[in-house]
Amino acid sequence: MFDPEHYDDPFEEMHPSAAAPSKNLSCELCDGHYVVRHGTHGAFFGCSNFPRCRSTKTIEEQTYAWFKEQGIRIYEVEQPCWKCGKPIKLRSYFPHLDLLLDQPELAQKLDLSIIRLSIVDTLDEYLSSKYQEIYSRFSKKFDGEYVANNCPYCHSLQGNTMSLKTAYNYLTERIRKRQ
Ligand SMILES: [Zn+2]
Ligand SMILES: [Zn+2]
Repeated sequence: MFDPEHYDDPFEEMHPSAAAPSKNLSCELCDGHYVVRHGTHGAFFGCSNFPRCRSTKTIEEQTYAWFKEQGIRIYEVEQPCWKCGKPIKLRSYFPHLDLLLDQPELAQKLDLSIIRLSIVDTLDEYLSSKYQEIYSRFSKKFDGEYVANNCPYCHSLQGNTMSLKTAYNYLTERIRKRQ
């Protein structure tokens, strides 16, 4: 039901002025950087200057540190409202796409694909205050309230399962093709 031709190019929406993300995750103890290593307990980050430097981080710690430093992008995708068909803008954060774009190695180790609008309260609050089409709605399907995009014309809820998942899959595909 969604025609990919209706989407804006997400890469035009991203901030070209922002400094190129550092691909290397700097070591906190020396001038090296963290690389993925495989140990008996699975993958972790170790310093590129090993054995001279023995600094290590878990995959989760490093991911958290990276987001703390870089921030989380807000993605904006245009697609037709599932109900009235008018082109509308959906906005959400998709941390997994940030990783796929800038830290593909981390993205492979950590699947954050379910994190999007309605999962992180503070980001939801920020987006609701910034965009009037984003607000809390009751969903019969989930029997509960959650923050979602809404159509500015017909006010239909643009839910996570259908609308945002479609946007996420579309953006993921674009990133794969670009790489
Ligand atoms: Zn080091
Ligand atoms: Zn609509």
